[in-house]
Amino acid sequence: LSQGISKEQEIAELDKKYYIHPTTVPKTFVEQGPKLVFAEGNGMNVKDVNGDTYIDGVSMLWNVNLGHGNQELAKAAYDQMTNIAYSSSFYGFSNERAVRLAEKIVSLAPGDLNAVYFTSGGSEANETAFKLARFYWSLKGQDKKRKIISVSNGYHGATSAAGTATGIDAFHSFAGSEDTNILNAKAHLTNCEAGDRNDPNYEGSIRDIIEKEGPENVAAVIVEPVQGAGGIHISPDGYLKAVRDLCDEHNVLLISDEVICGFGRTGKMFGVDNWDVVPDFMSLAKGITSGYTQLGGVLMSQEIRDTLVEYDKILGHGFTYSGHPTACAIGLKNLEILERDGLVQNAKNMEVEMKRGFEYLEDKHPHVTKTRALGLLAGFELQQDPSTNTPFDDSVGAAGIVDDECFKRNLILRTADFEKGVNILAIAPPLIVNKEDIDKIFNIIDEALTAFEKKIK
Ligand code: PLP
Repeated sequence: LSQGISKEQEIAELDKKYYIHPTTVPKTFVEQGPKLVFAEGNGMNVKDVNGDTYIDGVSMLWNVNLGHGNQELAKAAYDQMTNIAYSSSFYGFSNERAVRLAEKIVSLAPGDLNAVYFTSGGSEANETAFKLARFYWSLKGQDKKRKIISVSNGYHGATSAAGTATGIDAFHSFAGSEDTNILNAKAHLTNCEAGDRNDPNYEGSIRDIIEKEGPENVAAVIVEPVQGAGGIHISPDGYLKAVRDLCDEHNVLLISDEVICGFGRTGKMFGVDNWDVVPDFMSLAKGITSGYTQLGGVLMSQEIRDTLVEYDKILGHGFTYSGHPTACAIGLKNLEILERDGLVQNAKNMEVEMKRGFEYLEDKHPHVTKTRALGLLAGFELQQDPSTNTPFDDSVGAAGIVDDECFKRNLILRTADFEKGVNILAIAPPLIVNKEDIDKIFNIIDEALTAFEKKIK
């Protein structure tokens, strides 16, 4: 300990001075310092530098799907690094781990999604999908097809194009980085996407935008099967199929952003598998390595792959860490464990336990409403009066209070309430979670809600 201050204080001071944090309010952070400094993790739990243990109720950033401290993943990384730390995939070189992981992912993917382009994370995956979609149309002699349509409350990353596709204000126009070829539609309006132009929500729907812009100008539509950061919005039945049909009708490519949903999170291998829809591209990241290292990728259809491989000039797109051998070795081991331990099915089974927990909370706590879960991607809302759909005033900060009360009780959840007048809490534990863990999580939320009710009285 330096100068008689604790390790936590020392890190906090250094942090405030030297470290700019992603998706954090800088002014508040510099005034208050870190809420917690993580030190170690094991299974469902993490410890801070003081040795206090917390339940990780959101798999950190919905990515640590195998839980913390997995020795098999660590060993896979060690073995690969001591074999060859890094090898380029550029200029005709290759490496076995990347090839085998691509083959494995293809074997798990639905339909004819038959080739993979690797990236370092999810934003790069979406950037890549957008560029490849536009490039594909150029190769097909349709140079005008440049526009990408995303939907409100979608989260697709923070780089310029992916950030513009992100339908959340704070990201959408950050530092003037908008891409004018990316347009934001209203989300989840099944009837419009299915063709009902008389639906009162038609204005601003994906269909409306395609028709107004002209399909000859539209390259692709991007959607998350379940919106994560934007508020745990599960696609209504029929929605993704309607979007798929709409894209087919207008010769537009469909990108499914599976960065959260992919690799078992929703109780199926991929989010789209819940509705048997096959997109043209899938963006992947997070659960591909359970967050043990950075990796992302884009799966593409056979048709897109076959068109690309006919191109006889350099494909001017790539990242130093595309197909990083260590990341791919971890990815391979991660997918092996996911299958060996039946974790996709476990996510489906635990959905039932979560729904039971939600029923209990809704019965007992008057402000809890709109509970939902698909696999282990779950959330609930808080409203002043659910019977009349009356929200809390934003000044109450309802979701923030409940989140803090959970945190005080050593449970990490997260708010997903970028929208005004909406208070959403997200729950997405690692896929290794069992019934006892879920009971613990819901008992803490139960206590936190009681504390919240007292506070707002
Ligand atoms: N897409 C979705 C659905 C995400 O949730 C995220 C990150 O949270 C991204 C894309 C961006 O991924 P990354 O942060 O790895 O760039």
